[in-house]
Amino acid sequence: MRRLPKKIDFLEFEERWERIWEEWGTNRYDWEDDSRPRYSIDTPPPYPSGDFHMGNVLNWTYFDMRARYKRMRGYNVHFPQGWDCHGLPTEVAVEKAYKIRRSDLPPDEFRKLCEGWIEQYIAVMKEAVIRLGCSVDWSLEYRTMQPEYMRKVQLSFLMLCDKDMIYKGEHPINWCPRCETAIADAEVEREKRTGRIYTVAFGLEDGELPIATTRPEYIPACVAIGVNPDDDRFNHLIGDEATIPLSDRRVPIIADDAVDSSFGTGVMMICTYGDKADVVAVAKYRLPVIKLIDGKGRMTGAAGKYEGMGIEEARRAIVADLDGAGLLRRAESLPQEVGICWRCDTPIEILVTNQWFMRTMSLTEDVVRTTMEIKWFPDWMRYRMVDWARSLDWDWVLSRQRVFATPIPAWYCKRCGQMRMAAPEELPVDPKITTPKASCAECGSGEWEPERDVLDTWFDSSLTCAIHAGWPERLDWRNLYPASIHPSGHDIIRTWAYYLMVRHLALFGETAYSSALINGMVLGTDGRKMSKSLGNFVATPEVFKKYGADAARQWAATGGSTGTDIPFRWADVEYGWRFMRKLWNACRLASTQLEGFDPETEAEPELLDRWVLSRLERVVLMATEGFEECNYMSATEAVRNFVWHVFCDHYLEAVKHRLYSEGGEKASAQRTLHYALRRVLQLLAPVMPHLTEEIYSAMYAKGEADSIHLSRWPEADGSLIDEEAERQGDLIIAVIRDIRREKNRLGIPLNTPLERLTIYAESKDEAEAITLGLDDISATLKVEEVEVFEGEGGTLGVDGYPGVRFEMA
Ligand SMILES: [Zn+2]
Ligand SMILES: [Zn+2]
Repeated sequence: MRRLPKKIDFLEFEERWERIWEEWGTNRYDWEDDSRPRYSIDTPPPYPSGDFHMGNVLNWTYFDMRARYKRMRGYNVHFPQGWDCHGLPTEVAVEKAYKIRRSDLPPDEFRKLCEGWIEQYIAVMKEAVIRLGCSVDWSLEYRTMQPEYMRKVQLSFLMLCDKDMIYKGEHPINWCPRCETAIADAEVEREKRTGRIYTVAFGLEDGELPIATTRPEYIPACVAIGVNPDDDRFNHLIGDEATIPLSDRRVPIIADDAVDSSFGTGVMMICTYGDKADVVAVAKYRLPVIKLIDGKGRMTGAAGKYEGMGIEEARRAIVADLDGAGLLRRAESLPQEVGICWRCDTPIEILVTNQWFMRTMSLTEDVVRTTMEIKWFPDWMRYRMVDWARSLDWDWVLSRQRVFATPIPAWYCKRCGQMRMAAPEELPVDPKITTPKASCAECGSGEWEPERDVLDTWFDSSLTCAIHAGWPERLDWRNLYPASIHPSGHDIIRTWAYYLMVRHLALFGETAYSSALINGMVLGTDGRKMSKSLGNFVATPEVFKKYGADAARQWAATGGSTGTDIPFRWADVEYGWRFMRKLWNACRLASTQLEGFDPETEAEPELLDRWVLSRLERVVLMATEGFEECNYMSATEAVRNFVWHVFCDHYLEAVKHRLYSEGGEKASAQRTLHYALRRVLQLLAPVMPHLTEEIYSAMYAKGEADSIHLSRWPEADGSLIDEEAERQGDLIIAVIRDIRREKNRLGIPLNTPLERLTIYAESKDEAEAITLGLDDISATLKVEEVEVFEGEGGTLGVDGYPGVRFEMA
């Protein structure tokens, strides 16, 4: 037992412990240890943005509390950390920083610049993860841009091709004209905007057909007019033709029961492709496709005189021409939802291009069934995944037209066009750099054209459950697969949780993870979404510097129930910091009173000792249940309330006098302190890893590398729960509290002795209880003479105990 110093520098010891844990290997996973059960955490590798915000603090605190709790429960915990490196933002940043376009350099040179760029962001993020006190096993660190990682991604691509789960084909896909790449449904965000709806006159044999559209620039790509067969206003036109405005092209008027008769004029323009409804109609009625817009978002030759214009520009020109020709019937504003690119907010277009797809639609019901089978914290989050899986209309488009990504390992014969996939032993490979030595199996030519498309970065990051486990090179990878838990934010269920699940189901026919832990988002100090532009943004280093990581972690643990969005509140962090001081001071007092104390000392516990131990056991039960179910708020609050309002405010105050005395009642208080504080520190260790370690190392650690984080989680000891002691102890505490309050009211200093105190209790039970606690009452209140009577009397009441009164002199 070492005395804790009076002054304490939280920031100094937090950083010190982070270094020591790394030296001790406290967080290492032991691949060879079969004696303990394994627990694998599928840490999502973040995309390093060069920043670590309070949302990240919430995420990583959740991951880490799970890891630390499970380690203390005796698990061999596998807690890796990777970095998801590939992607468009890095390309854009490199282009800006070096004032180049990606096409200015050979792809491998541009790639090198991107790799260098992302390292500086990784360094910032890694430092923050360490500084938060995350118990990551850094020997498992990886980067998705490393050749070894890319080899696994490409290998899984080949395996999925073999299983016929991947195909290449011409299909309509979401396209970002600014990023000039295909993007997946999951990367399309919905934004509410106010647009305009135009009613345009289409020509009929005799008269006109007014059609309302929000995308008049698509009129040159109109391939049919749809009317609902039940709509008596228009169903007589089915089978006729209509003339496209500003041209003499004619299109068929067809019956389509998907047409909403109440929208616009009740008639739908079907064009390729204004929206997803067009995609469905074109496929259903086998309509021709007019490619109106190119990859840069410019009008093609199909647009006639509008060729070369941008989308907005073409819209304005067409509306003006319609107006000039007297064909514009109305123009009104309309609130609408627009699909925008998640990276650059540009409205997405639907283009037909040749892309690679994974057959995810065929797995929808497998995903739903698995989602329902596994455990979710909180339970209701599973429905987000189910709803998302069922809402998908298309297969996952895997190919991207970018550079900094995992290449698709394929070539095409220059002479006959035959495709050649790489062989597994050729991986990793960039077909743009390496050419196969073999000649074409079809025509014998030795000349190859590389596949230039690369893979969606989600295709890199959605393989982590297998890769973390050691697939494919470790024969024992199934020891860690499926991952015990996949933790992440609810905003990425539709990407991370979904892609992981569908990918691993396709590859291994088994769930990717056995449970999912979902955290909410962090809102700004004003309750709105946290953002720099709203001025409600709080930078993590500011919080760490002011109050340390353990205080920030308490905010994360207690800010709201698991899965809900929580606002960032300085007051919560400050409360956490004050709590740490309270705990420190209690432990400091104990450390001075326990010097030389042998915890094996026998002592009969006094009433208040039994009282506090019984209360503590209930807290152990609550905290254990809370951590087991990832209810961090209830677990942490139960312990903090106990420490602050039961242990420090009442128990310690009432037994201090015993600690300064000699004899059996001193030993029983010492034993209680020694036992209770150790348990409290352990219950708080997942939330406040630094502070609890600092105190534990002074008070309890034995020998080198004895970490609280490797100590066994307290098992609740039911034999210590003593309802009678709780009832009696509560009464003693109430008596002390109210007499002290009375002294205070009369202006008598607390340490001024009282000559006489008489307590009257109407019931025998209450009189007995008070008698049991009499020594603690009189010593704590400094009473020279104290008496207890069974019966009525006394002038002053005790709150909550109508039968107990007292008088003092
Ligand atoms: Zn974009
Ligand atoms: Zn060939």
